[in-house]
Amino acid sequence: MAYDSNNIFAKILRGEIPNQTVYEDEHVLAFRDIRPQAKAHVLLIPKGPYESFEDFSARASDAEIVAFTRAVAKVSRLAGIDVTGYRAIANTGADGHQEVPHFHLHLLGGQRLGRMVSLPE
Ligand code: 5GP
Repeated sequence: MAYDSNNIFAKILRGEIPNQTVYEDEHVLAFRDIRPQAKAHVLLIPKGPYESFEDFSARASDAEIVAFTRAVAKVSRLAGIDVTGYRAIANTGADGHQEVPHFHLHLLGGQRLGRMVSLPE
């Protein structure tokens, strides 16, 4: 599947839609989720056009992957969840219920989150 440059996170990256930025560098942007699912809910995205974690893992450069991974600890500190902990989720593809086709890592924390997954009935 080709990358859809009209997805909402591509628009955020182009500055067409505002965001509450938590962290930004050459390769990465982190911002608050518009519909937070926990007291702290930050989305971390690469600036490159990768539609999913699968795509990012397969195609991103080493520099992009290192920058993305290093940014996790920077963002968790800035969000105040590095000590108390958090859940990092990358919903991927149809079974993973990914809604926005630009790779994003959810960082959820600021409260106890309970068990990891509940399956639909
Ligand atoms: P997914 O289901 O694809 O893993 O998660 C997409 C996330 O993007 C959802 O948590 C949703 O609330 C968030 N989101 C969708 N549109 C916007 C937006 O315009 N701004 C921000 N900050 N988050 C958004």
